[in-house]
Amino acid sequence: MIEVTIGRTTLRLVQGDITTQVVDGIVNAANSTLLGGGGVDGAIHRGGGPAILAECREIHDRQGGCPTGEAVITTAGALRAKKVIHTVGPVWSGGGRGEPELLARCYRNSLALAEANGLRTVAFPSISTGAYRYPVGKAARVALGTVIEELGERDLDEVRFVLFSRNDLDAYAAALDDIAGDP
Ligand code: ADP
Repeated sequence: MIEVTIGRTTLRLVQGDITTQVVDGIVNAANSTLLGGGGVDGAIHRGGGPAILAECREIHDRQGGCPTGEAVITTAGALRAKKVIHTVGPVWSGGGRGEPELLARCYRNSLALAEANGLRTVAFPSISTGAYRYPVGKAARVALGTVIEELGERDLDEVRFVLFSRNDLDAYAAALDDIAGDP
């Protein structure tokens, strides 16, 4: 585990499964329909049960899903977290189609929604680096750079990145080292 303090917030990098984290809110790398998918999305819906999909469906019917870079919030159903924040990362198509800014918006909007809903501790997966093929080293720099910038503005106790593989944890650790100095 790697840990640094940014303002009043602890920033942690851990390897693990986001669905089992004991935090107030976990972030889902959703797709824009909000109606379920594979990867982390599949794991969250499997772990949380049908209550999450029911709320996603309501949002889908009300506002037609969730555009890339935006975020919505639902119950966490049977998961240990209280809430799931669903955000839609960009599909990587070379980096020239606004992918970094869209990915940054995912993190900014998710943190704003967490704070607005009174969540004190939030866990993120590595958004866009699975099925959406964003290179993990580049995604890690956007993710950590954005979160560190935002933590100046946000009243949160902990932001945790839960990386599924050792390779992803190493990429995030290297990015944190570059951005924040000695982690
Ligand atoms: P996207 O479509 O945004 O790329 P994916 O879910 O396909 O989202 O992948 C995002 C990242 O989440 C990948 O690095 C993948 O390995 C990881 N991941 C998959 N399942 C879990 C899980 N249960 N906990 C944490 N991370 C996960």
